[in-house]
Amino acid sequence: MPIKSFLVNEKNIFINNFNGMFSYDLYFLKEYEGYQILAPNTYSRTLYKCINICIQISNNCNMNCLYCFASKNNDAILSNREIKKYLDYMFDYFVEADKFFIDLSGSGEPLLNMNTIKFISNYAKNKSNEIKKEIIVNFVSNGLLLNKRYVDFLQSNSILFGVSIDGNKLNHDYFRKSKNINTFDLIIKNIENIENREYIGCAVTITNRVFDLVESLIFLKMYFKTISYKPVRSKQYGLDDISLKQWQNEYSKLCIFLKKELSNNDTSSIKCILNGDDFFGKFLLRCILKLKALNRCDAGMGRFSLSNDKNIYGCPALSSNIEAKIGNLDNGLDSSILKEIFSNSIKKSNKCLDCYFKFQCGGECLIELQENDNQPNEIMCQFKQMLILLAMDLSLYLENLYDKKIYEEIYIFCIEKRNRYKKNKDLYLYLQKNPKLSFIDGKAEFDKENKKY
Ligand code: SF4
Ligand code: SF4
Repeated sequence: MPIKSFLVNEKNIFINNFNGMFSYDLYFLKEYEGYQILAPNTYSRTLYKCINICIQISNNCNMNCLYCFASKNNDAILSNREIKKYLDYMFDYFVEADKFFIDLSGSGEPLLNMNTIKFISNYAKNKSNEIKKEIIVNFVSNGLLLNKRYVDFLQSNSILFGVSIDGNKLNHDYFRKSKNINTFDLIIKNIENIENREYIGCAVTITNRVFDLVESLIFLKMYFKTISYKPVRSKQYGLDDISLKQWQNEYSKLCIFLKKELSNNDTSSIKCILNGDDFFGKFLLRCILKLKALNRCDAGMGRFSLSNDKNIYGCPALSSNIEAKIGNLDNGLDSSILKEIFSNSIKKSNKCLDCYFKFQCGGECLIELQENDNQPNEIMCQFKQMLILLAMDLSLYLENLYDKKIYEEIYIFCIEKRNRYKKNKDLYLYLQKNPKLSFIDGKAEFDKENKKY
């Protein structure tokens, strides 16, 4: 029987394990109707139209966070010549992609290497003009160095940046220290000093120290329009049985809060968590748009990270494991490994294949699979399943709201969010109408007209 019911917020949600459909009403779920994901047979470099090129530009940090994954090694940092070689290679290799992000987050604090940020920003502008495609430079900073001079430079060059703040002052100051100085107040002050905060995101780490999620969201949304809560991958500070139950309670309260806001025509909080890379927000977007996830992430398929050791990995977090390398600076990417990653990501363990939440979840992170003998992490599965059920409930609540305008507004917001990773057709139309403008100048004009930066 492919349909099973799950209790969430005192209501039953029926989920069809065959096609990922869900409803409060069993009647609407036809047993084998709908579709499953049709995965391509094999990986090809044209499969992903948006490519994330990550580069580790710093091996240094002015903080000493308790859960940091960076192996405090002293690898020499990459030279501009090496960075150019990698970028040239990636733009050639993915010549058919429509859009590129260059992500400088990695390990270490990017703002400690401002010269390289400037070099990459210039490179991206020239390359953008040459290939006539959007190349967006972005990174997450710890926020300590965000002074006016740096912020002006970043914003005037359309570099997107986010700031890590761990939920609330108590939690943040416990985890994110700099030479034993508490950093929360310093960072909030830096943020307050930024005039245009429209495009600055906030990255929050979820650990086994549970905080009041609603209180945190209400506080952070005074400063940010994008807030992303994500669980840490750490044996010591990651979720355990006790914190899992506490987070369950926090997320239930969050959903009650969001429903209350929505019923008052207030969409500000739900948009904050749908707008970026929030763990719950990702599931919520998939539920609202009825999307099915082929795999957990695009690491090693649409995302590639050059580390200080001159090897290429699937994502910055994989860089601590040399066995996970998928290429290097001299020889480029190993296409047979990319094919293997892709086929493993769609094959999945039996546990995932039997799971009623697989269509919204997509499966397990490669790092967890490596560490757990190719099996998903049990605690994380419980966490994800709880979040997916809440996301299903919230999306059904939205669909059933008396005022359909709110549902439409959120639905369109989700579509626009997805489109950010696709070719912007309006931008290309604008450029066609203004053939004298270079790609970068045309995009700047277009963004101004559309009130971006
Ligand atoms: S990782 Fe866990 S929650 Fe996700 S599909 Fe696999 S078993 Fe289900
Ligand atoms: S491999 Fe894991 S850490 Fe890396 S991008 Fe994928 S989900 Fe994130």
